[in-house]
Amino acid sequence: YFNDNTLVFLDGHFVKPEQASCSVYAQSLHYGYAAFEGLRSYSTTAGIRIFKAKEHYERLHYSCQAVGLPLAYTVEELTALTYELLELNRLSDAYIRPLVYAGEPNMGIKAPATSNLFIAAWEWGKYLGDQCLRLMISPYERPNPKAVPIEAKISGHYANSIVASSDAKMKGYDEALLLDMHGFVAEGPGSNFFFEKNGELYTAPAGSILQGITRATVIELAREAGVRVHEQFFRPEELLEAEGAFLTGTAAEVVGVSSIGEHVFRKPYADTIGAQLAQQYTALVTGKAAPHLLST
Ligand code: PMP
Repeated sequence: YFNDNTLVFLDGHFVKPEQASCSVYAQSLHYGYAAFEGLRSYSTTAGIRIFKAKEHYERLHYSCQAVGLPLAYTVEELTALTYELLELNRLSDAYIRPLVYAGEPNMGIKAPATSNLFIAAWEWGKYLGDQCLRLMISPYERPNPKAVPIEAKISGHYANSIVASSDAKMKGYDEALLLDMHGFVAEGPGSNFFFEKNGELYTAPAGSILQGITRATVIELAREAGVRVHEQFFRPEELLEAEGAFLTGTAAEVVGVSSIGEHVFRKPYADTIGAQLAQQYTALVTGKAAPHLLST
């Protein structure tokens, strides 16, 4: 994630990672009480561009607000700081990780009056690789949305993600697919899920998922291409009729799924809508296609 020349942003300054320290009594560390984002920048035909910076930083504001974590920077300030960070680190194609946390020594369980902001960036390949994935329906469900604001990107929620993902890997699969508390298919530990049936796409609606920015982009791309996209609840049994599936996320981008449990999709991934959308997504983020879909 860093080398001798790396600089990170911490509370108003660009510093070396080893200077960016945090108390072991920090509230965020003990309670998972922090909000974060994951963005990507790309070398595009118009220079280095962060894909949908506005949407990501608006979601960071939403996440902070959802748990009462103060955030003292506007979307515009956060975006400008991130471009500065990329430039200082001479990065073009990078993954960017902003974290808003309560770093003061505080063992209380009450929202703090102030927060810290950390932003780091590094080169990171497609998070789940390029190969089609073998998923497993996880025995771990997504957290109950009545217990935590699950549509916010809160650090503590990722204990659920890590447990589900590690369990799937331990059982010989590439990744987990989590159901919601009602038994409907929700999403992956760090990505949204789509399946294809009769030339149409299906994905879980808002409720128990993180409403992915890649998910929204892919829905737009599909609709532009005349593909119907249904945002509706579905059960794992319905996946037996699916012809293909894929996951979406900023880090993972668009990645194919070859099987779920014992069910192997018959259609080769290269022939699926997902494979086409993966290409269109790359063209979009690198500025080679459909610029009107780029809001920032
Ligand atoms: N769901 C979860 C649980 C995630 O962590 C992520 C990654 N941020 C996503 C979905 C995909 O969201 P996005 O496309 O905005 O990166």
